[in-house]
Amino acid sequence: NTKVPRLPSYLKTNIPKGSSFASIKKDLRGLGLHTVCEEARCPNIGDCWGGKEGASEVEGKRAATATIMLMGDTCTRGCRFCSIKTSRAPPPLDPHEPENTAEAISRWGLGYIVLTSVDRDDLADGGARHFAETIRKIKQKAPQILVEALTGDFQGSLPMVSVVAKSGLDVYAHNIETAEALTRFVRDRRATFRQSLKVLEHAKAEGVRVTKTSIMLGVGENEEQVIDALGELRKVDVDVVTFGQYMRPTKRHMKVERYVEPAEFDRWKIIAEDMGFMYVASGPLVRSSYKAGEFYIENVLR
Ligand code: SF4
Ligand code: SF4
Repeated sequence: NTKVPRLPSYLKTNIPKGSSFASIKKDLRGLGLHTVCEEARCPNIGDCWGGKEGASEVEGKRAATATIMLMGDTCTRGCRFCSIKTSRAPPPLDPHEPENTAEAISRWGLGYIVLTSVDRDDLADGGARHFAETIRKIKQKAPQILVEALTGDFQGSLPMVSVVAKSGLDVYAHNIETAEALTRFVRDRRATFRQSLKVLEHAKAEGVRVTKTSIMLGVGENEEQVIDALGELRKVDVDVVTFGQYMRPTKRHMKVERYVEPAEFDRWKIIAEDMGFMYVASGPLVRSSYKAGEFYIENVLR
């Protein structure tokens, strides 16, 4: 069956042009920073970059959130939902990236930075030290900025998870993406559900205050499978979960099985909260970094 469901109207969005958004965008010029928000033309950019003025300033922490990609634009893996290009041997790391990224972020007006990266299975440490160095430098230059690291699974290497977990970050995120039974159809074959759980469990054991993961809906999962996944995540004390709709980047990627109604996303939020997650973001356009600063301030600092 190759029938693809039609795109519902609530998924058709425009890039916003609000004033705080425009001013942050202007600041960005000249800093040499490339955000995932802009490059992926994320529809949430107005919500995330704008933050919530006033309501969100706690202990000098600010809500405005952006996502930065480290370690290049070429991944050693090929997940079936992801549009990033793949190579077994991506270009070497830029040794100046931690310093330059930290400097640019410290001069930018945002409060919460999500650092993510491609997977670098070609590197002996999977890029863990590069990640950690970037976080340490951000915290040296601008201690008020909240930092979330959204990492890969480091092939299940717990010492590498420790390197990132002990870098001074605020939130450790790793996405399980989907239910266990669907993992092998959705993610690269080197990624497993159990390995991802271990990454999250180990980050918590290393003293990280908040751990976080994300699930895409609409890839063929059923309700029971999602509830099982949430149960496994709670067993390893994951604090935060986000749910969003899978969107097919190109025709070469796996198809969308189903567009999930906004009301169903609302229901997943209630189910996950009832299961004990500290906070849950759930909606068709939600991505794992969606308004992350605002959620952190409202739920962890208040
Ligand atoms: Fe950026 Fe993530 Fe927000 Fe999109 S959801 S605008 S990528 S921080
Ligand atoms: Fe994309 Fe991450 Fe999979 Fe690489 S590991 S293909 S960046 S989802």
